[in-house]
Amino acid sequence: MSILIKGGTVVTAEGTLDADVLVDGEKIAAVVTREAGGTVAERADEIIDATDRYVIPGGIDAHTHMEMPFGGTFASDTFETGTEAAAHGGTTTIIDFAVQAKGTGLEATLDKWHEKADGNCAIDYGFHMIVSDVNDATLKEMDALIGDGVTSFKMFMAYPGVFYATDGEILRAMQQARTSGGLIMMHAENGIAIDQLVAQALAAGRSDPVHHGLTRPPELEGEATHRAIVLAKVADCPLYIVHLSAAHALEAVAEARDDGQNVFAETCPQYLYLSLDDLARPDFEGAKFVCSPPLRTPDHASALWRGLRVNDLSVVSTDHCPFCFREQKELGRGDFSKIPNGIPGVEHRMDLLHQGVVAGEITLSRWVEICATTPARMFGLYPRKGTITPGADADIVIYDPVATQTISAATHHMNVDYSAYEGMEISGKVALTMSRGQVVVSDGQFRGPAGHGGFLRRDRCQYLF
Ligand SMILES: [Zn+2]
Repeated sequence: MSILIKGGTVVTAEGTLDADVLVDGEKIAAVVTREAGGTVAERADEIIDATDRYVIPGGIDAHTHMEMPFGGTFASDTFETGTEAAAHGGTTTIIDFAVQAKGTGLEATLDKWHEKADGNCAIDYGFHMIVSDVNDATLKEMDALIGDGVTSFKMFMAYPGVFYATDGEILRAMQQARTSGGLIMMHAENGIAIDQLVAQALAAGRSDPVHHGLTRPPELEGEATHRAIVLAKVADCPLYIVHLSAAHALEAVAEARDDGQNVFAETCPQYLYLSLDDLARPDFEGAKFVCSPPLRTPDHASALWRGLRVNDLSVVSTDHCPFCFREQKELGRGDFSKIPNGIPGVEHRMDLLHQGVVAGEITLSRWVEICATTPARMFGLYPRKGTITPGADADIVIYDPVATQTISAATHHMNVDYSAYEGMEISGKVALTMSRGQVVVSDGQFRGPAGHGGFLRRDRCQYLF
């Protein structure tokens, strides 16, 4: 079965091209510029018209949490609903997090996450491993996981008593990663200090959602980011800062990169488009915007856009971690520290970042680069994923840049009862999403088949090897 995508503008990280794309089976067979006047059309079984539309590599969301356990509840999207929503929004690969529980081994944890995802995903998926129990056995298992295609390991300087790792544990894991070629990903917030501020706020009767933000000041993200960078330097290990939200943290990353250290960072759409004002919405509405690190004041967003332009921030992921307002976010009524942390977003990352193109914050190619190409390289999937070139997987999105849409919980496909971007007008819309040659979404309809997505064994970070 071959498909010709005809008449569109192919957009990659390198630039734009008036070209037709021939898909043969699961792969891209040819990219033919129209001036060349090729004859590929005659070879295709089916033709898809992409006139006036962008033809882009499918998005790669390198930070999602489907079905994640948190504070006695689970993120509301399953691998099935979450990946279907991702496909609607033009994302064709997710990298989700397997979560090590204390006392459980890494391989056993990975097996458990394979069980959750296997046969349930609409698009391809990979895993990172959250390491929450650093000991000799776990460290050894990190090497084995790299062989299993799980080449990145997330650690936490936040959440004492849950995921928190001490500086010594982090250093040991970094030393291990240095030897085996793993990439350490860091949630960089000073959780020990934050817990004191949280206890003080609650004792003083400050229990509303906005205090989630006020007890996690940007200075404590900046401090932890700097500390993670220093530990990585001592261990001579590469480092990837997840969900960077504060200008203070960005400064630390920029300085390390200028010094030649292998430090990378991602940010998320919520830090670009939402703010502390949303957390302060009355009647507990602010709970919808509780995530960690928290939303910041708008001046931080301007710094993040600049970081994206100059590549101190090289990836935008969602940290998709949906909890319903009713019954889940509500667990924290009267005590903000009990509100499950997370914002839904896997469906809207490509659209939200396209607004950055519309607003002149980033170029069209940069949009593709930060949403698809760099995540592919960062997490060992390039050039199979993340670009449009012969031999690559036919993960292709046809994007209509002039269509308009309004984001709403009433129309989104994520399994969550609210949208953090309710009512936001978007210029641009996915017209079609193809996963390995299979049209999975067209005209706003999911075409399946369910379970089409497969597990991706990833290579090591391609900026380093
Ligand atoms: Zn996360």
